[in-house]
Amino acid sequence: MEVIVAQPLLKANEELARQNRNLLNRRGITTVNLISAPGAGKTTLLENTIGALKNMFSIGVVEGDIYTTFDSERLAGQGVAVVQINTYGGCHLDAQMVAQALERLPLDKLKLLFIENVGNLVCPAEFDLGENYKVAILSVSEGSDKPKKYPLVFQESEAVVLNKIDLLPYTDFDLAAAKEQLKEIKNNLVMFPLSAKTGEGMEAWVEWLKDKVSQTEKLSVTG
Ligand code: MG
Ligand code: ZN
Repeated sequence: MEVIVAQPLLKANEELARQNRNLLNRRGITTVNLISAPGAGKTTLLENTIGALKNMFSIGVVEGDIYTTFDSERLAGQGVAVVQINTYGGCHLDAQMVAQALERLPLDKLKLLFIENVGNLVCPAEFDLGENYKVAILSVSEGSDKPKKYPLVFQESEAVVLNKIDLLPYTDFDLAAAKEQLKEIKNNLVMFPLSAKTGEGMEAWVEWLKDKVSQTEKLSVTG
């Protein structure tokens, strides 16, 4: 019985993630790893976030998907650099996949890099990809008990986007309860209730990203 495989795999991943992080930090790129269950609206959020930011600085996307290229085709239409990773059944991205994707991106030009992870709230939380920030996306069409069911991903995240608030009147999602649960899991979690579709609440999220990009710039100037 082979039950010890996961440990060395995660160890090797940590080392590769460290290399990715060094490379990205040296280039002064802010990297955000987006994690959610399938259907929470990662790609729509990305499309509209890129739309709001692409005139300010150059953005790249690593698009993880199990089989298809639908999402990266949508994003390529935005005129940003997109590299697709198909995991062929794999339920998360790992640092090696991201390292390969980085080789195909114009890193000398990028200021902000999004990694859209495979739709899954479980193991993407465990695999460091070399990002600066993990951001979890939870949509109000899911159960508001998700934070309690999948605490790790929220603990590991810097911020949570509560997406699809335009649907709140049609769901029994309890926004206040979800926020309470999230605070219990991680006290300083930043939360952005928004609708990527209608644009409501997008400003605060976009401002947060701009802030993170300028923080990275200051670091690379002083460091
Ligand atoms: Mg997607
Ligand atoms: Zn997985």
